[in-house]
Amino acid sequence: MEQKPRILTGMRPTGPLHLGHYVGALENWITLQEKYACYFLIADYQALGDYSDDIPRIRQSVIDVTLDWLAVGLNPNDHKFVIQSYIPEHAELAMLLGTLVTLPRLHRNPTLKGEMDQQKASDITVAFYTYPVSQVADILLPKAHLVPVGEDQMPHIELTREVARKFNRTYEDIFPEPKGLVGRIPRLVGIDGQAKMSKSLDNAIYLSDDKETVNQKVRRMFTDPTRLRATDPGHVENNPVFMYHDAFNTDHAQLEDLKTRYRAGRVGDVEVKNILAEHLNNFLDPIREKRHYYEKNPSLVRDALLQGTNHAKILAEETMREVRESMGIKQYV
Ligand code: ATP
Ligand code: MG
Repeated sequence: MEQKPRILTGMRPTGPLHLGHYVGALENWITLQEKYACYFLIADYQALGDYSDDIPRIRQSVIDVTLDWLAVGLNPNDHKFVIQSYIPEHAELAMLLGTLVTLPRLHRNPTLKGEMDQQKASDITVAFYTYPVSQVADILLPKAHLVPVGEDQMPHIELTREVARKFNRTYEDIFPEPKGLVGRIPRLVGIDGQAKMSKSLDNAIYLSDDKETVNQKVRRMFTDPTRLRATDPGHVENNPVFMYHDAFNTDHAQLEDLKTRYRAGRVGDVEVKNILAEHLNNFLDPIREKRHYYEKNPSLVRDALLQGTNHAKILAEETMREVRESMGIKQYV
């Protein structure tokens, strides 16, 4: 049987998934399912790095993230949904690979630096500080070839490639050097115009939001701040409302017409937003429907997680045997 190349990618169970996850990552996961054998990781150990004071949230989010995955069309029969903490090999490999990463190398990671700047220095845990190394282990454990992620994750993939090279050179050549792949919209802005839609910043439209919630969120979305009246000429570029139109409006003629009228001061923000909300709701409707189905069938959610995890566990044990062997960590006595 021909072996398909592997994908490892994942999400932290820190809340339900939003539109940014979809256009930055999930959309690629869905289409790549055909050509790759996929391992979709629920990274609960990684979530503990900054959410250890809120275990109930992590527990709830394991289910929420899985429901979202099923709702957008990830297929748990052909692919593996994996719970990180059920496979201690993740932690073991992270510890071993930590010996190949220096502190100055960790400090050069711009994503880690940005996230640390957002936290109070005295609150930053060692687990959070070293999470890029744990992510390296997550990717190398199933020997992934491709890692589809949002743009903010690319520095972690670069680190993974370096660690794989270093391991292969130092010990035995066992790891492929995985490539990263960024989605159609590498970084979707928040509804507040901030650089990234994020669970932690309270600026997200969730895949599970109902119609009225979406309408309300779109109504309060940031738009062109220089425009005071509907008759003022408006800016389309860097305008969050139009960025969302670009991402989710499937009627290109309508969108071009809206942009022309907006630039000329011939359409109000309310109309532009109403049309956007309609497109978002059309996009979300089938996802909501499927999510509802799985909510009513919790045994399917459970099976998806347990089957995928059991499978991934076997592969993880295999890789760890190889790692210990090639490092010479075996048969001391
Ligand atoms: P947190 O704020 O808790 O870190 P998050 O929203 O960043 O949550 P993650 O689980 O860390 O979510 O990221 C999962 C995947 O979704 C990653 O590949 C990440 O790059 C991608 N992603 C998250 N937010 C966006 C966004 N706004 N635009 C594009 N991709 C995104
Ligand atoms: Mg994140």
